[in-house]
Amino acid sequence: MAKKTKEPLLEIVDLKKHFDLGGTLRKKKILTAVDGVTFTIYKGETFGLVGESGCGKTTTGRTIIRLYNPTGGKILYEGVDLATLNNKQMFPFRRKIQMIFQDPYASLNTRMTVTDIIGEGIDTHNLLQGKERQERIFELLEKVGLKREHANRYPHEFSGGQRQRIGIARSLAINPDLIICDEPISALDVSIQAQVVNMLEDLQEEFDLTYLFIAHDLSMVRHISDRIGVMYLGKLMEITTSDELYDNPRHPYTKSLLSSIPIPDPRSSIRESRIILEGDVGNPINPKPGCRFASRCRYAKDRCRQETPELVEIEPDHFVACHFVDEIND
Ligand code: SF4
Repeated sequence: MAKKTKEPLLEIVDLKKHFDLGGTLRKKKILTAVDGVTFTIYKGETFGLVGESGCGKTTTGRTIIRLYNPTGGKILYEGVDLATLNNKQMFPFRRKIQMIFQDPYASLNTRMTVTDIIGEGIDTHNLLQGKERQERIFELLEKVGLKREHANRYPHEFSGGQRQRIGIARSLAINPDLIICDEPISALDVSIQAQVVNMLEDLQEEFDLTYLFIAHDLSMVRHISDRIGVMYLGKLMEITTSDELYDNPRHPYTKSLLSSIPIPDPRSSIRESRIILEGDVGNPINPKPGCRFASRCRYAKDRCRQETPELVEIEPDHFVACHFVDEIND
């Protein structure tokens, strides 16, 4: 069974990923997709990263696994800073950290059989050969709810849910410790989503996995996560345990996100009415100083437009980036 600990597996410190979009010599256009993000993932837990599309959550995941080179900050994996490693030095860590992608079809090579897709990592890391390799692939297929006879088929012969299962089997093939699940269910039918999430939970227990679960669907992320970080325009706004975030959100942005979750039975709900955000979303290209949420925040004051709020621990295990968090929640 996966054992949740307080032992850090991954410590992200002031991580930045900026993209140069060109512009003129005088005025470069810099997209600050991830702009100084700090959080820790403990061994055995699921850390959910949520926010609207374009908030930088996927870029954060891709930078951690070094699909993108970070612009700044540290990616400490058991104390080793992955941000400083070259491709060769990263090789052993690519076995420890795997990723499940949002679009299972786009992430699978359509010209490879399922055996070749799942076996690719096993071959790259030279883990098993011949009969043992094939047996491992059969075993993985069964673990993700597929059958041995699926091994010689191609991705187009499967449904979306089955393709995601193949992607999950591929990520498990080399015994990783950490899996970055990048919106793994958002491209699937609603009827399949819960099945895949339940399967991820079972696999976590069985293989002692740690997850970074990236999603925009707050109800699903609550179900699977132990702790959650809320992102907005490249910055973290709030981090706390899953229950605390839903029962006692402190940041105005988190409150608005939670208020937009559909309520199954409005008569029995005690949740406050939906908060409609007004104002521009803000621009991550050459952003102005101050709170990224200021253009949509109903509590914004002058200080918010001048000074960027730091993520501060306001209670044990509850971090919020807001100058006026006490006043707002009084
Ligand atoms: Fe709103 Fe200001 Fe707090 Fe930002 S710092 S969330 S603008 S009150």
